[in-house]
Amino acid sequence: MQFPKRLQLANLPTPITKLERFPLHGSGAQIWVKRDELTGTEVSGNKIRKLEFSLAEALEQGCNTIITCGGLQSNHCRTTAILCSRLGLKVHLILRGGKPEQPDGNLLLDLLAGAQITYVLEQDWATHEDLARKLQADYAASGNKAFFIPIGASDEIGLWGYIAACEELKEDFEQLDITPDYIVTATGSGGTQGGLLVGSKLFDLPGKVIAFNVCDDAAYFEKKIHEDVTLWQRRYKIDVDFQKKDINTIEGYVGPGYGLASKEVFSTIAELARTDGLFLDPVYTGKAFHGMVTEILKGKEGCMPDAGNVLFIHTGGLFGVFPQQQYFSFA
Ligand SMILES: *Cc1c(COP(=O)(O)O)cnc(C)c1O
Repeated sequence: MQFPKRLQLANLPTPITKLERFPLHGSGAQIWVKRDELTGTEVSGNKIRKLEFSLAEALEQGCNTIITCGGLQSNHCRTTAILCSRLGLKVHLILRGGKPEQPDGNLLLDLLAGAQITYVLEQDWATHEDLARKLQADYAASGNKAFFIPIGASDEIGLWGYIAACEELKEDFEQLDITPDYIVTATGSGGTQGGLLVGSKLFDLPGKVIAFNVCDDAAYFEKKIHEDVTLWQRRYKIDVDFQKKDINTIEGYVGPGYGLASKEVFSTIAELARTDGLFLDPVYTGKAFHGMVTEILKGKEGCMPDAGNVLFIHTGGLFGVFPQQQYFSFA
């Protein structure tokens, strides 16, 4: 498989850990965790896999500035900001929400890494891509060339991140001698899910790719992923038998809203930390892991019938725990 230009930024390959004690009440399932929260320390999580390709493209185009966008606690923006600092690029983040008095979690790291930040209020967010284009023009006027990366680096370039991860998974499965029935991820901007879907076809991986959405709904991800994959096929001229029906997004676990989690999610985070020493986050991985366990325990009635070996992709997000510390309860 010929990949496009790629920077080596992530600590790869990431290990796979077998869960030993997290209770699954005799369901017969065995959960394995692909530790993509270990792709780096400050740059941990799934976004760095995509950014290896997006930032390579930016450099190829001769850009010296990166513009990207996301929530105030965006893991993607934090990863981009730090990688730009490492690569000697200017970075401008467009963040959704008002400027907080005391920056915390990911936002604190964005500021430490020297990111320029424009805060856009919720009600004006629909115009954030126009603002990005305006900033691009402003940078050009001052002799800089700015590259725009969309939310989550989920586009036809970022898609490569998890396509390449599938090559790694193929090796993992051989080494561990496991045949997963399911490959599970959280989905937020669709690039991880889309990359896994395409990559698992290209590398002939076992296991049905299923995703738990943390915002929007299944119809949104069907449309978004179909668009990204279509653009990817057009740009790179690679043939893959990919259809909308391959996109399995399991709804029902968003909870109170994007970035807001139910108390069950917080107790699942605490439980996994206690039983196996792995840390999930309340925005993405906590919801997906909680959804996965709930569906496994439903047995034949759930969305994951006959779950034997299940691979959960730990997409990171640890810094998102700290701004929500008040929602954990301890006896
Ligand atoms: C962004 C993110 C996701 C979702 O990945 P997408 O490719 O945007 O769908 C999952 N987990 C964490 C921790 C993330 O930061």
